[in-house]
Amino acid sequence: MQCPNCGSGNCQVQLVEQGQQTNKKGVGFGGHMNNAARTTTAVATFGMSNLLWKKSRGTNKTKTVNTTMGICQDCGSTWRIKKGGFGAAPGSIFK
Ligand SMILES: [Zn+2]
Repeated sequence: MQCPNCGSGNCQVQLVEQGQQTNKKGVGFGGHMNNAARTTTAVATFGMSNLLWKKSRGTNKTKTVNTTMGICQDCGSTWRIKKGGFGAAPGSIFK
């Protein structure tokens, strides 16, 4: 994996929670702030917070949309690798 910004190979890959599909109503300023804060926290802790969030949500019906992100350890830039992928479990598991 190479950083598209500086070309360094010192990069990490992580799954970032991008949002929820069933939560379209009422997602205003606060919702966006929450998502932004969550993503920022996830990046800052390299995904540890995402694990806690997923556990605490337990039986929710919301389908989370995950994105695989690359993080450069040298210049700190992040970039999206692909949507979905591993971690995008079938919804039936959470019902
Ligand atoms: Zn870089």
